[in-house]
Amino acid sequence: MTDRLTIAIQKSGRLSKESMALLNACGVKFSVNEARLIAHSTSHPIDLLRVRDDDIPGLVMDGVVDLGLVGENVLEEARLERIATDSVAAYQPLRGLEFGQCRLSLAVPRESQYQSLKDLDGLRVATTYPQLLKRYLKDNGVNARTVMLTGSVEVAPRAGLAEAICDLVSTGATLEANGLVEKDVIFRSQAQLIQRADSLSEEKQAMIDQLLPRIDGVQMARE
Ligand code: ATP
Ligand code: ZN
Repeated sequence: MTDRLTIAIQKSGRLSKESMALLNACGVKFSVNEARLIAHSTSHPIDLLRVRDDDIPGLVMDGVVDLGLVGENVLEEARLERIATDSVAAYQPLRGLEFGQCRLSLAVPRESQYQSLKDLDGLRVATTYPQLLKRYLKDNGVNARTVMLTGSVEVAPRAGLAEAICDLVSTGATLEANGLVEKDVIFRSQAQLIQRADSLSEEKQAMIDQLLPRIDGVQMARE
């Protein structure tokens, strides 16, 4: 039996199309059945695992898949969370990918008296990224409370759940629509290709070593 290389990508969302397009451009062909978790490549002994982006770092760190394409925001949040809970948090970063660009920013309501970070002392900040936020607050000596929300973070101030938010921004339109003003960028992100930390079979590693220069070529051509 051939040893198939497994790659986790986001099933449906902001990274899906470009993850598939990148692999395709590298000559790795797939025919995806939307209802299926796994897609077999028609050109290589490669399987795609189509999952929620939040599951990708853990799948790679636990060695369940060989490679993953995921946003650095999700990756770093998961790494910090795993370190905090004494779980395995190792992976090999392979390439920064030129898509999925966004920033994790602090924002406050337009009418807020906010002048500087220190003004958050004693206040509540709603976020989906508590680890990244806590690290930033600690590095800056601010004593704010984090309120974890998995969605609708931008409505937290209006709902009276928090005085500020820390959320992903690309254009700022969502903040604007919710009466919020961006104050501070705490993390800049793009998609990244990562590999599990332990060593792979020779065949699998050879496939990755062949894939990487192709990725570089595709990215160079796009510049
Ligand atoms: P899933 O169902 O897989 O959990 P999701 O809703 O968490 O999906 P998406 O909104 O599809 O995730 O975003 C996936 C990733 O795309 C983000 O984690 C981030 O790395 C990147 N991204 C790029 N631009 C944005 C943006 N404007 N808002 C949110 N995420 C963005
Ligand atoms: Zn997600």
